[in-house]
Amino acid sequence: MVLILLGAPGSGKGTQANRLAQKLGLRHLSTGDMLRRHVKDGTEIGKKVESTMKSGQLVPDELIVKMIADQIESMSSGGVMLDGFPRNLSQADKLDEMFSDHGLNVDRVLFLSVDEDELIKRLSGRFYCPKCDAGYNYPMHLPKSEGVCDNDGEKLLRRPDDEESIVRDRLEVYRTQTSPLEDYYRKQGKLVEIRANIHPDKVTEAMLKAIMDIGQTDLKQAGNAKA
Ligand code: AMP
Repeated sequence: MVLILLGAPGSGKGTQANRLAQKLGLRHLSTGDMLRRHVKDGTEIGKKVESTMKSGQLVPDELIVKMIADQIESMSSGGVMLDGFPRNLSQADKLDEMFSDHGLNVDRVLFLSVDEDELIKRLSGRFYCPKCDAGYNYPMHLPKSEGVCDNDGEKLLRRPDDEESIVRDRLEVYRTQTSPLEDYYRKQGKLVEIRANIHPDKVTEAMLKAIMDIGQTDLKQAGNAKA
């Protein structure tokens, strides 16, 4: 099974992808997480992308497509959940090419839609632990003791690109470069829109239902083909 998670920054893609990947045994590929790891480890890639990431712009397509190609190459079997890729139409084309070379196909694109005011509120309340990467959110998901991680007592930080001025640029990047993917996948009948301005548990439920429907649709199509 191949799933793509689509949604603006702050729509909850990361949280939901982690939950669903665990529940369904899918491999979770987050390009944002991969890039942040490169930056943290000070690799050549990390040095190349750090300032672009801080500014909220997209890093070059070639670099990100190569990263995804390497992951697909090393995939033995099982499903995958793509989180943060593709981010524009050219990346979507490249993904189609890579998949057709490997006999893979995108099954569903789960689009988490949230109003812009709510996105800004969520991003400005977002904190993470630099040691274990646990995420927190004020006021929805607070640490037990203010400002420190429940798991290891580490001081919580904000992502540099969650500063308000950068958040506005990231939302603009989403609007101009990423949102055309909504139509791209809608036209292919693969997009399922999930209103994600509700409690995260309810969002997970709705996403699971959309995924379970994939099996139903396949059965129906198989039945039609036989008839
Ligand atoms: P995210 O964690 O998905 O919000 O990504 C954080 C940052 O990583 C983005 O603002 C971009 O600078 C970069 N990034 C992540 N995924 C991509 C992608 N598919 N294409 C280009 N840049 C990306």
